[in-house]
Amino acid sequence: MTGKDLATTVRLADERYRMFAEKLEDPLAYEGGHSFHFSAKDNLCSVEFQARAGSRILEGYNPPFDATAIKRLKEAGGLLIGKTNMDEFGFGSFGTNSDIGVPLNPFDTTRCCGGSSGGAGAAASVLDGHLSIGVSTGGSISCPASFCGVVGLVPTYGRVSRWGLIDYGNSLDKIGLLASSSDMIARYLPVISGPDALDPTSQVQPPLSIEGDVGSVAIPEEALAGLSDGVRKAFEEAVGRLEGMGVEVRRVAMPELRFALPAYYILATAEASTNLARYCGMRYGDIVEETDLGFNELFSQVRSKDLGNEAKRRILLGTFCRMVGLRDRYYIKALQVRKLVIQAYERQFREVDAVLTPTMPFVAPRLDEVEKMSALEAYHADFLTVPPNLAGLPHISLPCAYIDGLPAGMQLVAPHWEEGRLLSLAARWEREFQYRRPEGGA
Ligand code: GLN
Repeated sequence: MTGKDLATTVRLADERYRMFAEKLEDPLAYEGGHSFHFSAKDNLCSVEFQARAGSRILEGYNPPFDATAIKRLKEAGGLLIGKTNMDEFGFGSFGTNSDIGVPLNPFDTTRCCGGSSGGAGAAASVLDGHLSIGVSTGGSISCPASFCGVVGLVPTYGRVSRWGLIDYGNSLDKIGLLASSSDMIARYLPVISGPDALDPTSQVQPPLSIEGDVGSVAIPEEALAGLSDGVRKAFEEAVGRLEGMGVEVRRVAMPELRFALPAYYILATAEASTNLARYCGMRYGDIVEETDLGFNELFSQVRSKDLGNEAKRRILLGTFCRMVGLRDRYYIKALQVRKLVIQAYERQFREVDAVLTPTMPFVAPRLDEVEKMSALEAYHADFLTVPPNLAGLPHISLPCAYIDGLPAGMQLVAPHWEEGRLLSLAARWEREFQYRRPEGGA
């Protein structure tokens, strides 16, 4: 495809599905013989675009530097075509909490793309040969991958530098990749991986070799409670197909998983509430140059006006859980649960190569259904994606069924640093199971 054709395709796709927060507009900007094109979630910094993380409070913030993952992809010959839309600061599972608009699902535009990397899911789904950089704190790559019918990989915590990422929860945030099949991810995950002096939580690590395989999986019974009928049936069919490929399947109990969701929403909001303190109208975005107000009044005024409801809810919840007198009951307790979840996985990995569940309990909901959900119902949708994120374990979501034309995913979780075996299995899966592209295309 020539640069001009790509420019047209991107423009039309964005008109239809609204996946970009900002993109290259000038067709000439697409020229230049790049070896591939990619996009980055709007919470990653790059010199060409604003970085708003889906929030009005960052309107007008133009970062003077590239996030390490973006820099490495550019050095490998990639063209950054835009920043993808997302729930404000990563707070959400349906893409509906953005100040920049709501991305629409390419399989059915009355439905959501998932979240919080909703735009990334849509871009990977409709643009041929595209690579989307996403970020997962508690499921934001797996969820849109499942709803948009693409592959989403979240690496081990510390494998990819977080430098240049606008933090949600520092102990949970992981940069990963989405694409319409696993080969793009296998090719470019090694490029963005590796230690980085700019991010002290990035780690010296075993090299990423796309070797090993998944010969056996454990399916926790806790993961099968609360699925829609369609997803339950589709998942069991996928399990049968895996068995046909020679994968040994064990049904197990992992009771700790039931406590992962509450622990996650305590830890993630606690970290978010401190991270958001820097948005006070004096440092980033729409800076207040002159005011008669004292700091507290200014801070409250700016944040009341420019933060969305979900961000406010999370600041309140996170601050509450960290308060003196409540900290032991909530924050410290949640850390203990996190440890138990890690141990539950370690127990399984002594017996099997990966843990398998559906990715989401249902297919992409309609936008009017999302609107009717309570906050708690929305949080509950993450019960399958939160546990591996809490444990910092690599995981992949692969399309495994189409239910009335809508994609559904399965999620495989591997031990730390074993992304390679997930990608090997993905390649094998893709020889057995044909992924569909949305009919409208780009
Ligand atoms: N839906 C989860 C949340 O709202 C996860 C989002 C994410 O991974 N950024 O926190």
